[in-house]
This record gives sequence, structure tokens and C-alpha cells, in this order.
Amino acid sequence: MTAVIEVRSPADGGVAGAVPDQTAEEVSSAVANLRANQPAWEALSYAERVGWLRRYRDWLLDNEDRLGRLLQSETGKPWGEATFEVPYVVDVINYYAKHGERFIAEQTPRPHGAITMTKKQRMVYRPYQVVGVITPWNFPLALALMDSVPALLAGASVVVKPSEFTPLVTREAIAGWAEIGAPPVFGCVTGYGPAGAAVVDNADFVQFTGSTRTGKVIGQRAAERLIPCSLELGGKDAMVVLADAELDRAVNGAVWGALCNSGQMCTSVERVYVEAPIYEDFVARVVERVGELRQGQDDQGYHFDVGALANENQLAIVQRHVDEAIEQGAKALTGGKRAAAGTFFEPTVLIDVDHSMACMTEETFGPTMPIMRVADAEEAIRLANDSAYGLSATVWTKDKQRGESVARRLEAGSVNVNDMFANLFTLPLPQAGWKQSGIGARNGGEYGIRKFCRSQAIVSSNLTPKREPQWYPYTRLKGTLLRKLTRLVTARDLRRRFGLR
Ligand code: NDP
Repeated sequence: MTAVIEVRSPADGGVAGAVPDQTAEEVSSAVANLRANQPAWEALSYAERVGWLRRYRDWLLDNEDRLGRLLQSETGKPWGEATFEVPYVVDVINYYAKHGERFIAEQTPRPHGAITMTKKQRMVYRPYQVVGVITPWNFPLALALMDSVPALLAGASVVVKPSEFTPLVTREAIAGWAEIGAPPVFGCVTGYGPAGAAVVDNADFVQFTGSTRTGKVIGQRAAERLIPCSLELGGKDAMVVLADAELDRAVNGAVWGALCNSGQMCTSVERVYVEAPIYEDFVARVVERVGELRQGQDDQGYHFDVGALANENQLAIVQRHVDEAIEQGAKALTGGKRAAAGTFFEPTVLIDVDHSMACMTEETFGPTMPIMRVADAEEAIRLANDSAYGLSATVWTKDKQRGESVARRLEAGSVNVNDMFANLFTLPLPQAGWKQSGIGARNGGEYGIRKFCRSQAIVSSNLTPKREPQWYPYTRLKGTLLRKLTRLVTARDLRRRFGLR
């Protein structure tokens, strides 16, 4: 009998559903089927593949509420957040449906010199046969589909392995691909870490989103197999608030940025640096706003703002960061502890923090906002860059030029100026983690689809004499002529061109 994984609701601990715990052999056989079906998918025109993705987009929209309810049942998100994900994926489908063909169109560079003048050169983008997508539990639908879409449009088959905590909505969404009658090139496998490892062992390209710890394990295995991987990992995003910031916007941005999805976003605001003249005012306003938030889960109502944490492990990390900070002299101005039922943790504003504390250096991934007073922008930049991570950051100031110049000094793959998470929606720009936050990027216009392709050089001769001059046999006459000719076209001064030196 196949073992199953029971999925529980973080909001109340009830059973949300179950999925098979697939063995490495089952994963391997699923990948083999996807591989066998891939050549026919690649052979379709781009427009034909777009046709399937458009039908799939319509299916996602038609099933949006059902998918939202399922997602909510396994994540404990409030309805306002459970419904973020389908629209995001639809935007990705529309973007790559419109631009992808141009991004991976074959290129015909002109010969760069006399030696290749008679050759026709073409650069063709050919997909990896099977792309493996391994995803975490914080955005189970968006993170599974946003990378699958460009990979499918490039002509690859895709296998997704969702987190054991949130496999239900991912599996259901991928079942929609079969429901619309699309070619069998998109599949889902379920299980624990070993099922993910089996994806890495069988796919031709791995797209991983998750922790830095697991990302390193996957990167090592991918290196052993000599397959490429793109690793989107954790973060410790800094928010820099300068004294001339539009204060209410900065405060509202900070509260949403730190607490959205209960702080379980790779790009959450994890630490805030505020210039001294506005520090007191900023903190007071943050505390007031946080006090207005409603925590809980509400089916399809909009009665709550902050949901539950994904599981007990996550709650234990958050509690440890808060407790350690308080032991070391920090103060919690709000929250600081779990709420009564489920894995809810009260939104927590911490002050009197510094970089000796885990809450300022390790990824918390929870509803906390440690705020630190800084003397000036220079100190804020130095502290923001004092991190092993480099995913993204924000800068807040009325002086846009100054904001952008501070942005250029931050060691982070993306920086929003006077905005929160805006870069997640700018599909033409890459979302890349620097330092321990990853290798490679997602989105980024043509990069976001070319990454799922291998480039192939095709060279064909316009002239086809019986043999080329450099082929056998080697003779003195041919050799001398060839060398003189090569000098003539490659040297850049007359004396060397004509062999006078
Ligand atoms: P994990 O790294 O624990 O797990 C991610 C996925 O990898 C899961 O599906 C997991 O399966 C699977 N997995 C575990 N072990 C292996 C293995 N040896 N080989 C292959 N796959 C394996 O991350 P979390 O689920 O805890 O997610 C939270 C993390 O994700 C945070 O650090 C966050 O910052 C990061 N993240 C990064 C984003 C980005 O774009 N940079 C976006 C969102 C999140 P299972 O769960 O079944 O063990």
C-alpha cells in the first residue's frame, strides 16, 4: 500500500487532505514519461504552445475560488492572501505568451571576419527536456507555476515537487492541465525531501525555491550530475528609512512588508534601519498600525489581515528569535508570543536590537519587525550590507535620486525605492538573490525563458567545394598561402600584414 502524507491546516490542526508519499522509483518513472512526451511538445510551434497555456490560464481563472479555498486550508492564510496567487500566474502566462517567441527566436549573426564569410550561422534555443521545479510552502501555487510557465512555453516538460506541508493546491492546479486535454508534459510528484532529491536525480534542469540549507544540498547534487540549477533562496531584507521619508507611506510599507503572509516571504522586511531624527515617530506609528491589524482565518471573508505560520517548526524559530532578543536587551512593543489556537504568532515589533542578535542576522520568516535607530544613511548602508544574504531591500526618502544612489550601494539583487515588493511584479526585470540568497534569477524578460533552454550553434556552408583549404592533405604551398592570407586579414598594421617583420 502506498504511504500517504496527511496535510493539516495550520489554523486549527484539522486534516486538510492527503497525498501519496512517492518513492524515488515512482518519481523516476514519472520523469521518464514526461521525457518521452517532450519531443512532440517541442515540435509544436510557439503559437500552438501558447494556445494551451491560454486555455490553462482560463481554467485557472474559472477555478480561482476553489483553488483559493484549498490553498487556504493547507496554509492558514486569510482570504485576502489566499487569492493573491492565481492573478500573479495569469500575468506571467500573458507576459510570456506575448513576448516569449521573440525572446527565444533563432538568431543569425553576421560573420565576424573574413575566415567565416562563407558560413551561415544560426543560434537556436532548444529546451532542456525535463525541468524539475521544487517549491516551498509559503506560496504553493505561484511558486510552482511561475517558473513552470516559461519552461513549458520554451518546449520543456515540467515536473513539480511541492512542499510536504502544502501539496494539495499545487497538485490540484497541475491536474487542471490534464483536465483541459493538454499534452502530458506537465506533472506533479509528491513526497518528502527524498522525492525532491529524486527530481534532482532525474531532471535536466532544476529550478529550486526554498531554504539556503536545502539549496546547497541541491546545488551539490546538481554539480555531481553536471546539470544546471537556479536556486532562489532565503533572505534577510533590510528597509532603510531616511529622515526625509514620506513617513506614513514608509510606516504602511513597513507593516505590510514585514507582516504580509505572516512574514513568510523570502522578500519580507526582516530588519528596519531608521535615521535618528524620525526614529521615535516612526516606531510610534508602526506600533499604532500593528495594533489595528486583525489576526485569524476567515474562509472567504475579509475579516482578518494576518494568518497563521505554516507549521510548528516555523513557529519555534520565530519564538526563539524573539526570546533570545529579549534576553539580550531588546523590547517587544507588541506581541512576542503565539496566539491561543493553531500556529498563529502575534505580530511583534522589536526595538533596542543589534547585530549580535539572531533576529537581525538569521532569516526569521515570521511576523516580526526589529527596528534599529541609525545615525545616518552611511550607518544604515553599512548595517544593511552586514548580512550573509542579499535578496532584496528597500529605501525610503522623498529625494528619489538619493534613494537610487543608496540603492546602488546595497548588496542586494533587487531594491525598491519608496515601494514594497514592487519588483516581484516587474517581469522584465530579474529577481536574483545575491550572496547566500541564490544563484541565477527568475523573470528578467528574455532571461526568464532562455534559462530553460540550451543554446545550439548551427553552422552551414554557403559554398561547398570538394574540400576546404585547411583540410587534408597538408602541403607546403597550401600551408604558406593560408598563413599569408590569415596574416593579411588578421594583422592590423601594414608591415605585419605583408610579412615584412
Ligand atoms: P525547504 O528548503 O525546507 O524546502 C523546499 C522544498 O525542497 C520542499 O519541497 C522540500 O520538500 C524540498 N526538499 C527538502 N530536502 C530536499 C532535498 N534533499 N532534495 C530536493 N528537495 C528537497 O524550504 P521551506 O519549504 O522551509 O521554505 C522556506 C524557505 O524558502 C525560506 O528560506 C525562504 O526564504 C525560501 N524562499 C525563497 C524564495 C525566493 O524566491 N528566493 C521565495 C520563497 C521562499 P519537503 O517540504 O517535502 O521536505
